[in-house]
This record gives sequence, structure tokens and C-alpha cells, in this order.
Amino acid sequence: MSRFIILLVGLFTYPISANSWGFFAHKTINHAAVYTLPTEMFGFYKANIASITELAVQADKRRYLLKDEAPRHYLDADYYESVIPLDTIPRNYDSAIAWYGTDTLMAHGIVPWHVMRVKWWLTKAFIERDFTSIIKLSADLGHYVGDLHVPLHTSHNYNGQYTGQRGIHGFWESRLPELFCDTYDLFTGKAVYIFNIENTIWSKFEESYSAVDSVLYLDKLSQDAIRDDHLYTFEQRGRQTVRTQSKKYSSAYHNGLNNMVERRMRSSVLCVGSLWYTAWVDAGQPDLDLLTSNTLEPIKDSFPINGKFLGREEPN
Ligand SMILES: [Zn+2]
Repeated sequence: MSRFIILLVGLFTYPISANSWGFFAHKTINHAAVYTLPTEMFGFYKANIASITELAVQADKRRYLLKDEAPRHYLDADYYESVIPLDTIPRNYDSAIAWYGTDTLMAHGIVPWHVMRVKWWLTKAFIERDFTSIIKLSADLGHYVGDLHVPLHTSHNYNGQYTGQRGIHGFWESRLPELFCDTYDLFTGKAVYIFNIENTIWSKFEESYSAVDSVLYLDKLSQDAIRDDHLYTFEQRGRQTVRTQSKKYSSAYHNGLNNMVERRMRSSVLCVGSLWYTAWVDAGQPDLDLLTSNTLEPIKDSFPINGKFLGREEPN
């Protein structure tokens, strides 16, 4: 009988998250970033905040449809080198392609370079006064900048699969923010103009990379501090039963991380707002109030989320 029950539970459980930062955190970051903007931009972004929040996760949903989407969300820096500063990886994308070739780059991820590319696309959308692209690219830029701030998006051990910690990816970036985000202060102050985007992006990336050891080690410490039978629990999510880290385990890990998740979210928020602002300034500060479409209905999220991610194994 008990085996039957275990089988049944197994049939109706699913990993708590297979998405970078989790849908919740990505949406929260984009939403909070709107409040960093100067007056000239705030009206337009506030009028479209529903779209910018909702579309924060489109980039992850594209991973179900496009093979080349996955590498845009991470970079396994430790494939190339292990010590900060990461000075053997070319910071310029064309130089990186010339040095390593496209196949290697796509196999190990391209997130810092892709952030720079999307920032340029957004600048172009501002120059062209292209309402829909401004909204979609702002949302996408928020997503990739968020991913860049997640330590486990910088390592080939992205789900603890090489250290016996499978599941830590979703634990850090989904479970913890979902449990503790209401205690976070995400008001970061005003967006700033970024003079050297390349430097800023790579230094955020290095911050993430330098936190990987702590992310892994502190999880081991939390596990040791808690008896095995209290590590996991089952929770009801809508009509599904989900196996997930217990509140006790989550609290122990969260305390050990000493506000790391909040710090990375705050840094994401300010960086997203600052890149939106920089793109707008670089485009010549167009008058966003003249974009008549800002009275349109929110842009709908159109991607199906069935099936599996294309590209490498899902982090769950
Ligand atoms: Zn992502």
C-alpha cells in the first residue's frame, strides 16, 4: 500500500521550478525596476508596467521553441578559467567568437554578451520610436540581467549535479525568493547612466561567479544542521502536489546566505533600470509621451509552456 501511495505522489509531483530566478523573481525585478526611472521615462513605463512585468519571463518560455535561446541565459565561466578576474574570456563578443568559435560559446553560454546585444536592440527601438519593441526588449533585458545576477548561472555545476546537490538551482533562485521576498527592500534609488556597459556587465557577472562557492557550501552546512527527514516536504500548488525544500531547511539556508538573495535582486533591479535609462539616453532621449500606443492593452504573453526546454538539461 505504501509503495502505491509513493507511486501516486510521484505521478503528481513536478520540480518546483525549471526557470531562471523563477517566474516570480523575474517579474518582481522588472516591476521594481520601473520605480528607478527618471520622470521623463517613468510615465511611459508605469503605463505599461503590466506588460513589462508579465513579459519578464518570455525569454525563458522561448527556450521551449528555440534551440539557440538557452545559452543566452548563462555562461559557464569555469569552463574557461577558475580565478577572478575572468581575464581570459574576451569581453567583446566578436573577439570571443574569433578565439573560441561559435560552437564552444553556444555550448557554454553567452549571457554577458547577450545582455550587451539586447541593450543595443533596445537603444535602436527607442531611436525608431517602436512602441512594441521597446516594451518587449525592456522586458527581455530585465530577464537576462536578472539571470546574470544568479551565481548558478555562471558555473557548469549549475544545478549542484557535480557536488551531490541536485535541485539547488531552483532552491536558491525560486524557492528562497518566493518564501522570503516580502522581507526584502527592493527600493534601490535612481537609475544611473552607465558609461561603460561592458565593464558593468562583466563586473556583475564576476560578482555572481565569486558567490558560487558560498552558494554550494552554505547549502551543505544547512543540510548538515538539519536532520535528513526534515529536508523536504510536500506542498499543494493549485491542483498539484509539489515536493520541495522544507521551510526549516529553507530558513537555515537563507540565514546562512546572509541576505545574498536580496542583494542580488537589488543589484538586478538597479542594473535593469540603469540599462533602460542608458538605452534611452543613447537614443537621444526621445519623448516617450509621444508614443501614442501607450494606451494599448497590455501585450499578451503568447508562448506555450508545454514540453521540455530545448538545449541542455533543465535545471531542476
Ligand atoms: Zn532565464
